[in-house]
Amino acid sequence: MTLPSIQPRPCTDSDCRAQHAPAERVALAKSLCGARGAQLTTLRRQVLELLWESGRPTGAYELIEALGLRDSRRVAPPTVYRALEFLMSQGFVSKIESRNAYVPCAHPERRHDCCFFICKDCGATAELEDPRIEQFLHEQAADLGYRVTRRVVEVVGTCASCIAAGAA
Ligand SMILES: [Zn+2]
Ligand SMILES: [Zn+2]
Ligand SMILES: [Zn+2]
Repeated sequence: MTLPSIQPRPCTDSDCRAQHAPAERVALAKSLCGARGAQLTTLRRQVLELLWESGRPTGAYELIEALGLRDSRRVAPPTVYRALEFLMSQGFVSKIESRNAYVPCAHPERRHDCCFFICKDCGATAELEDPRIEQFLHEQAADLGYRVTRRVVEVVGTCASCIAAGAA
């Protein structure tokens, strides 16, 4: 018996709060790679799966450890960094600079900057996808005559559930 393959379903809801099944998002990454002529190798796919399963920002060394537990092989750090570089170049993964950790992007099917709210207590992140921020920064850069190579927007604080837990 073969398991039914998971069909990627591109998201059209701009306000969906990223409630997607990890397996579906990995299948989507695979189909986007196919359309773009990029290779989602086994290692790249495994790194993406691990990031989806983790549910919080995950560092490269944690990924190396998890890969080792998964199929008891040793993956060298540069190999994992290269896989992460690839996943970021395709918009499947973002780096949380302030934590030196990685999270999967909920919507690689739409071009956007990933902006993050990061809880300093539990480490949970919420991604904000709002073209107004991108547009605003773009305009400001143009006014300054600035050529932007990268934009990082990270908002650190306490998430709603940590606030609720603290108040209880
Ligand atoms: Zn969605
Ligand atoms: Zn994103
Ligand atoms: Zn929290």
